[in-house]
Amino acid sequence: MKVGILGGGQLGRMLLQAAANYTVETFVLENDPNCPAAHLCHHFTKGDISKFEDVYSFGKNLDAITIEIESVNVDALEKLENEGVKIYPKPSAIRIIKNKILQKQFYKDHEIPSSDFIVTQNKNEINNQLNFLPAVHKLAEGGYDGKGVQVLNDSNDVPLAFDAPCVLEKKVAIKKEIAMIVAINDKKEIRPYPIAEMMVNPFLNLLDYQICPAILPQKTVWVVEAIAIKLAKALNSSGLFAIEMFVDVEDNVWVNETAPRVHNSGHHTIEGNHCSQYDMLWRIILGYPLGDTSPILPAAIVNIIGADGFTGIPEYEGLNEVLAIDNAFVHLYGKLQTKPGRKMGHITILNSNYQDLSYKANKIKHLLKVKSAN
Ligand code: ADP
Repeated sequence: MKVGILGGGQLGRMLLQAAANYTVETFVLENDPNCPAAHLCHHFTKGDISKFEDVYSFGKNLDAITIEIESVNVDALEKLENEGVKIYPKPSAIRIIKNKILQKQFYKDHEIPSSDFIVTQNKNEINNQLNFLPAVHKLAEGGYDGKGVQVLNDSNDVPLAFDAPCVLEKKVAIKKEIAMIVAINDKKEIRPYPIAEMMVNPFLNLLDYQICPAILPQKTVWVVEAIAIKLAKALNSSGLFAIEMFVDVEDNVWVNETAPRVHNSGHHTIEGNHCSQYDMLWRIILGYPLGDTSPILPAAIVNIIGADGFTGIPEYEGLNEVLAIDNAFVHLYGKLQTKPGRKMGHITILNSNYQDLSYKANKIKHLLKVKSAN
């Protein structure tokens, strides 16, 4: 089977690592020939995943296509789907998720709890909605890793607001940020993964560290699972869906956003779960039975981030010490350049004891620094 991946970042790289266990010929479309996935696929094509022609000509001789990011040309995927190429997830699901206005409207239409919102076409329109503040303002398209998100507390913040189509959504009083990955196959069989819980670094807006399974009351776990399964079913597509949610200070659960693909919140499933999210997506694409999502042991993920003040060829200070820690698994993404705040890899730690996980996560954050000699 010939399977293409749109995007060649770290998620594509890990998908390709899992593909090595199956009989599958892999293709990657990506602009950067030095991207993390380029050297692990059978066939690399340089091209723009957002351009119709590039995606269409890449996909027309393939059996199936999947994505590692939503910013793909959905029109081309739709045409390919009509011509018989299987797309995971369906272009109709990507179209909804790719645009935050459509995504929020979808939640509303399907009665999936998500914070109240209004749509603004430009920043002037916010001046007519000042009673909606404090709110979180999000670019409809093109935001990632917190870069398309801003908090607007009051009218003083409006001049700095994005001047483009956005959703303005009520600010949730967040107690916990969590995520659940749900797998659905062509037979509509569904398997949720355990809930992951994130700690966000407020300065970089990137994950500080993550634990899984999350520490939540059983009642909240049931609510989260019910919402995630309802949402994934409503998207009406096979594939993997990573659903990011908030638990608020009153223990209500709100959907923040969905990613229709393998997701950073599931990196730990490689070592932490019987079937990793990457293996699971191959099972879905290749038509094999779904795998076992249950955890082997609780896991933490620590991101490896480029240190401030260093740009250039990466040097991983403290790597020996980290590799000497029991049950710490290092994943470097093979990026040729580091820069401040850039995600260069991650480390998964396994332990039955949550205190030990958090101790080791913090220890690793202090030990490991991505620097550069030049
Ligand atoms: P991105 O897709 O760029 O990561 P998110 O929509 O996940 O953007 O938002 C980034 C962060 O902003 C979230 O992790 C959360 O901390 C905060 N945030 C987003 N939406 C809200 C909201 N409605 N209320 C409170 N905080 C929010």
